[in-house]
Amino acid sequence: MSLRVGVDLDGVVANFRSAFESAASEAGVSLPVAGLEASTNDPLSSRDIRKIWDYVKRTPNWWVRLSPYEPAQIVRLYETARRLRWEVVFVTRRPVTIGDPVQFQSQWWLEQQGFFYPAVLTVPGSRGELANALRLDVLIDDQIHNCVDVISASTAKAVLLLRDRTDSSVEDHAVSRGIGVVGSLEEALDVLDHLHSVLRERRGRLQRLADWFVVKPRTDDRLPIRPDPHRVTLRND
Ligand SMILES: [Mg+2]
Repeated sequence: MSLRVGVDLDGVVANFRSAFESAASEAGVSLPVAGLEASTNDPLSSRDIRKIWDYVKRTPNWWVRLSPYEPAQIVRLYETARRLRWEVVFVTRRPVTIGDPVQFQSQWWLEQQGFFYPAVLTVPGSRGELANALRLDVLIDDQIHNCVDVISASTAKAVLLLRDRTDSSVEDHAVSRGIGVVGSLEEALDVLDHLHSVLRERRGRLQRLADWFVVKPRTDDRLPIRPDPHRVTLRND
């Protein structure tokens, strides 16, 4: 049988954070110098957050402005799904903006990235109920509460995508609950590849993380394709 895969949009395929930071400056709200990511406490007041969201909702088709995190991996997901006959559903709780419906904006965006005929569900509320209703095998999400919800309320497995892994407490908590943790969409898709091959033989009997979760080891001996001058460390340093 083919995999039924749920994929969260913001934080997994789309870089919501950087678009929200741009919206903040366009709305006249000043952010911490290093951006939202740098602050551990709430960097913005609820009034500022409301001001940014008001700006977003007033901007026609704001959701098509977002950048993809890993463009090649969106294409890979499409091609793998076609080849292996997976059914992929993108899920989101994005608020409405002026212009087209959130569903259409999201579909438009995904097609622009090379994922054709995307199924997008704009569902508020429990991801667990959704995973159950859709009979998902696995959901990829960047929020641990969604992953916990999914494994509690359905038989789907959950893969937590943590792009920032400096705080290991979230990761430890996830793993202790049987949630697989990855650092990129690329790794998440490696996990799906593996899950596809083991589920063919052992559907329904993969209870423990060790049964289904494998991340390929990567060698870091290549410099990044897009150098970030603040992060690249020369080997001779
Ligand atoms: Mg998300």
